[in-house]
Amino acid sequence: MRHPSRWQRLRDVILSTEPRRRTLVSMALLALLLMTGSAGVMLLVAHANVAVNATAVQWWAAMSVGGLVVMTAFIRSGATARLRDPSLTIPQMVWTLTSGAVAYVLAGEARGLVPSVLAMILFFGTFGLTVAEVIGIGIYALLAFACAIGATTRFSANPFGYLDTAYALMVAIVLGGCVALNLRIQRIRAKLQQQREALAQALDINRELATRDELTGLINRRAMLDLMALEHRRSLRNHRPLVLAQLDIDHFKPINDQHGHATGDRALQAFAGTVRATVRGTDVLARWGGEEFVLMLADTQLDDARELLERIRLAVERLEIPHATGSFQMSVSAGLALHLPGDTVEHTLERADQALYTAKALGRNRVVVANRPAATVPPLNARA
Ligand code: GH3
Ligand code: MG
Ligand code: MG
Repeated sequence: MRHPSRWQRLRDVILSTEPRRRTLVSMALLALLLMTGSAGVMLLVAHANVAVNATAVQWWAAMSVGGLVVMTAFIRSGATARLRDPSLTIPQMVWTLTSGAVAYVLAGEARGLVPSVLAMILFFGTFGLTVAEVIGIGIYALLAFACAIGATTRFSANPFGYLDTAYALMVAIVLGGCVALNLRIQRIRAKLQQQREALAQALDINRELATRDELTGLINRRAMLDLMALEHRRSLRNHRPLVLAQLDIDHFKPINDQHGHATGDRALQAFAGTVRATVRGTDVLARWGGEEFVLMLADTQLDDARELLERIRLAVERLEIPHATGSFQMSVSAGLALHLPGDTVEHTLERADQALYTAKALGRNRVVVANRPAATVPPLNARA
């Protein structure tokens, strides 16, 4: 494993190692950085302009930056993780908007700087607010700046002039424009979310279609091969026996020929249902193709597997499939093989298929166990 560099370690300490929290802390730090920059600009204004109350601006700067420092610390500590708004977007926006409105009063002649900061604050809402919240924040900003404009008029020695009107209008334009753009972005986000959900649903359906056999509802050969590869690794690791069985319905073609394809389909469904009802929940039955099925019995001894297959055979024999003028019965032949460590799943399936062939040759409606191939390693269960 590679050692993290000093820079990476510092980043982990500041932002945390948890991906979600990292994003939240990064955003909070960005807001803090921008606020610190804006506070610096205000201090410069206070330094340059004697008409501006420097002490008030210093207090304002300390409060504005301090508030965001506290909120960033809360986010970094994880204390906000369980809140509905773990990024504290709304408190941060309310705080910075209030700070902006106060700055508008304190900046005096330089208040023309504030609208651009206002736009930046409102832009932060794009990332996490709902439509209702965007409107709510817009109304709050309107009220805060209406108060600020009122306050500048009240405390100013000069009457409300053209320049005051221009600044107030600029605030109104920026506010209205930002809220409108934000609402538009929220709508696009909602649409994207809908599309993402529809895509995820389509993907689920596709996955289902790719792994399931529509007629019987069983998994198909492809999905079964994946499961068998998984089970092969698990049985190797746990030294647990694994048995694979090939099942084939006897004389199925005459059933189709005599009763029609639809009845044949119903017979396949009934067969799948019967086998499924006979095996354990952990055993997996797959439709291998046509009237052939594969059963995977994990953690099962060969003798138990043989007994289970015998029970399946008897259950299938008892099954009555109705057709137009009565009902018929069917039978199944099965070949089973114990999977040996070091062997491939494909080879074990081949051995099971050979056993199935023997069952057919011996007259069908029977279960045959595959011989262990000569010169192989002992079965999994013998090593435990
Ligand atoms: P055996 O005892 O030797 O297995 O004889 P069989 O007639 O069962 O074997 P064969 O392979 O000759 O015939 C299989 C038949 O299964 C032929 C095919 O039309 C039918 N079949 C395959 N898939 C389906 C299906 O989805 N629905 C229906 N109804 N029939 C199917
Ligand atoms: Mg058959
Ligand atoms: Mg067949």
